Amino acid sequence: MTTALLTHDDGFRHVTPPGHPEQVARLEHVLHALAPMSDLKRVSAPMASESDLLRLHPRSYLDMLRSALPEEGFAQLDADTFLSPGSLDAAFRGAGAAVKAVDMVVAGEAGNAFCAMRPPGHHAETETPMGFCVFGNAALAARHALDHHGMERVAVVDFDVHHGNGTQDLLWDERRALFISSHQMPLWPGTGAPDERGAFDNVVNLPLAPGTGGAEMRALYEAQVFPRLRAFAPELVVVSAGFDAHAADPLANLEWRTEDFAWVTRELCAFAAELCGGRLVSVMEGGYDLEALAASVAAHVTELREAAA
Ligand SMILES: [Zn+2]
Repeated sequence: MTTALLTHDDGFRHVTPPGHPEQVARLEHVLHALAPMSDLKRVSAPMASESDLLRLHPRSYLDMLRSALPEEGFAQLDADTFLSPGSLDAAFRGAGAAVKAVDMVVAGEAGNAFCAMRPPGHHAETETPMGFCVFGNAALAARHALDHHGMERVAVVDFDVHHGNGTQDLLWDERRALFISSHQMPLWPGTGAPDERGAFDNVVNLPLAPGTGGAEMRALYEAQVFPRLRAFAPELVVVSAGFDAHAADPLANLEWRTEDFAWVTRELCAFAAELCGGRLVSVMEGGYDLEALAASVAAHVTELREAAA
């Protein structure tokens, strides 16, 4: 089997103001780094259907986004979340990529999948865009697996340096989903304390102090993440793959290296192989140093390919 790479040029049509860290160049660098990987099964990311999005976001939210979409220039949704004329097409394809990736791994058309799209998703709450994010792509993938494919247990693991407050909000009272987030604290958005545990003890928050490096991160995953994952026995693992815990990242203060992203990917793939036939869908979240992002995504996808082979 192979690893699927889901992306679309509409990801370049989500434009942010000059100097914004969540910029078009991120996707350019990522796709350039993945270009030599000729064995990837390249798939054009479809737009999510309304029914896909309405599983977790109300119609009023879709209406608000459509009415906010500018004909030119930018619309500002919050302090750091902007829409350009192409942004909703990009966001619909980001959500659609995550949903399609689930379909592909369930159907056995790919062993696992990586969705290289932007804007990212894990800060988007039920009816609130936030932190560069518009739709909760990882949570939408999980709910699609549960509702459309009839799965009973889906795990979402988020190693982006920021707390996945949006995914937590969207899955808070979903007893069929386990959400595990490691993140720097203190750091924006300020949520993600260990006592935020979900309506069914289905949320696990693992804050990391500024300066935490790869060795401590690995120990934390060994002690806290993997036992919970094994006990939950998911039928699918969704990964919110943010690469801004990298030491070079300008938005945060953790000290992970490229090989740490390879390690966590390798371990998560090993758990997926053990627990659910290797079924794993990874969606790109943050990562704002362009070189570190490209190298870390390449390391991540290299591990996905080896696991799927
Ligand atoms: Zn982040």
